[in-house]
Amino acid sequence: MNLILFGAPGAGKGTQTGSLIETYHIPAIATGDILRAQRRAGSALGEQVKGYMDRGELVPDTLMIDIIRTRLQEPDARNGFILDGFPRTVAQAEALDAMLDQLGRRVDAVIYLRVSRQVLIDRLSHRYCCRTCGAVYTFTPQQARDLPRCTTDGGELYQRPDDRPEIVAHRIDVFLTHTAPLIDYYSAQHKLENIDGQMSVDEVRADITRRLSALRKGAGSR
Ligand code: AMP
Repeated sequence: MNLILFGAPGAGKGTQTGSLIETYHIPAIATGDILRAQRRAGSALGEQVKGYMDRGELVPDTLMIDIIRTRLQEPDARNGFILDGFPRTVAQAEALDAMLDQLGRRVDAVIYLRVSRQVLIDRLSHRYCCRTCGAVYTFTPQQARDLPRCTTDGGELYQRPDDRPEIVAHRIDVFLTHTAPLIDYYSAQHKLENIDGQMSVDEVRADITRRLSALRKGAGSR
């Protein structure tokens, strides 16, 4: 399965990747995580992307396409992948299609988690991430006064600088302007699975599983 998890920041893409990895035994490739790791490592790429990320803007397509081209050639991605945060522009989607075409592969499904602007803002302003494993938590301001450690690996929890309210509003606008056109792009390819991302985490997970099983059955019977 070659999957794309698609949606605005805070739509729940990262939250849903865990169960997909377990079900399909394919890696999740989250471009935001790749960029944050480069920044932590202090690499030249990390320095190059820092300003864009802190302002909530998109990193240039050429850089992102090179990152994905390299990552998709790694052995663990040969049997499939879950892309989280890529593509974010039509140019990235076209480059991805061309890359996969050369490998005799294609995108199987694009899972679109649909969430209203207000819910996105609420979720992101209460979102905390583990510095080491990236696990995501939601805390009320009360709970956040005394932040616990990550329950997975004991790492420190922090609020991403680009989750500050003024940057969040800009990231959502960037999504609507540059990324939302991909809804039409993938609808035209009949690959879009439109899911209500405001249901509970378990309900969203069940809906994704149901739709992907139906797709697999359909592919098997063709
Ligand atoms: P995310 O963790 O997916 O919210 O990404 C955090 C930030 O990384 C974004 O706001 C962008 O600045 C940058 N970024 C991640 N993926 C992409 C992409 N595919 N294209 C452009 N910029 C990206």
